[in-house]
Amino acid sequence: MLGLGLIGGSLMRAALPHTSVFGWTRSAQTRDEAAADGFDVSATLDQALARAVAMDALVVLATPVTAFRPLLKQINELAPNVRLTDVASVKGIVAEQVAELAPHTRFVGSHPMAGTQYSGWLAGAGDLFTGAAWVTCLDEDSDIDDWVSVARVALAIGSHVVPADALSHDQAVARVSHLPHLMALALAQVGEEGGELAMSLAASSFGDGTRVAGTRPELIRAMTETNAEALSSALNDVLALLGVARASLASTGSLVKITEGGHAARLRFDRRGGDLIPVQLSGGDLVEQLLSVGASGGYVTDIGADSDGLVIEALYPDPGEDAG
Ligand code: NAP
Repeated sequence: MLGLGLIGGSLMRAALPHTSVFGWTRSAQTRDEAAADGFDVSATLDQALARAVAMDALVVLATPVTAFRPLLKQINELAPNVRLTDVASVKGIVAEQVAELAPHTRFVGSHPMAGTQYSGWLAGAGDLFTGAAWVTCLDEDSDIDDWVSVARVALAIGSHVVPADALSHDQAVARVSHLPHLMALALAQVGEEGGELAMSLAASSFGDGTRVAGTRPELIRAMTETNAEALSSALNDVLALLGVARASLASTGSLVKITEGGHAARLRFDRRGGDLIPVQLSGGDLVEQLLSVGASGGYVTDIGADSDGLVIEALYPDPGEDAG
């Protein structure tokens, strides 16, 4: 594990019951905190990479994306063929950086859809990923065995695996993760401009809507600025909706369109997951089948094998639900 903050530290804790795990992080203070909790921490990056090579370990990049380039250069030098994944909130730019700087690694991008607004080793928790979606990237060029080795880690710690290509991932998280961070940042500022009375009256709707504004700014910048195209598209859509709402409020006094539309969307979100049915994936076009599962809102629950090869269990939206 390279980086022992909220996500790397949580993954160390979650993985330990299932496999041997060791880590490194740049600051002595964080290394000491992890070691004091009984975890195996290497003193230097070079030592951690040497151990990874010796053990054929899966290396996980768990720092902000902005720290990836020097790490990838070091990996290319000391562990060029290692199995590699990352947990960053953007996938396209990471794939580009790996292709440029560590092209011989067996890389599979991933992204756990779990977190809090807190940072650092002490914020980590072993159950952070339980029940969470964990994106594991693949496309037609992917090595399915490398993908399986990353997906199995996510499954072992209780996540459900969502296969997706990097571009689709980045477009999706722009709307459901990166945009909410920007909205929270804006709302926190607009609320505060209401003055002391407004702040003293701020309750759960303000607290819920601004929660992720408490995330360290450099982490928010690292994920939003590296997903600019998809985020701009999502921002255009929200600004258009708000523009229509403002115009309607001024002209007719009605907010019926945004309230009815948003309420219905939220209820559909609350109802999700009830219509999933089990399917089994196998055969030669596994990548295509897996991407289809992810794109349709399904996810992988187990990975096994029989004499003919991999057998992957997944939950998939019931086609019968759409037919009606
Ligand atoms: P965090 O708690 O702030 O931890 C960041 C870790 O990266 C720390 O171990 C820190 O080292 C290390 N680091 C920071 N800058 C570095 C640099 N320039 N060079 C080397 N190491 C550096 O952050 P986090 O929330 O775990 O985020 C880590 C990754 O997970 C990010 O890519 C983020 O996009 C992704 N992610 C975050 C969330 C979330 O909700 N927070 C959710 C999913 C994915 P020291 O402690 O030693 O200084």
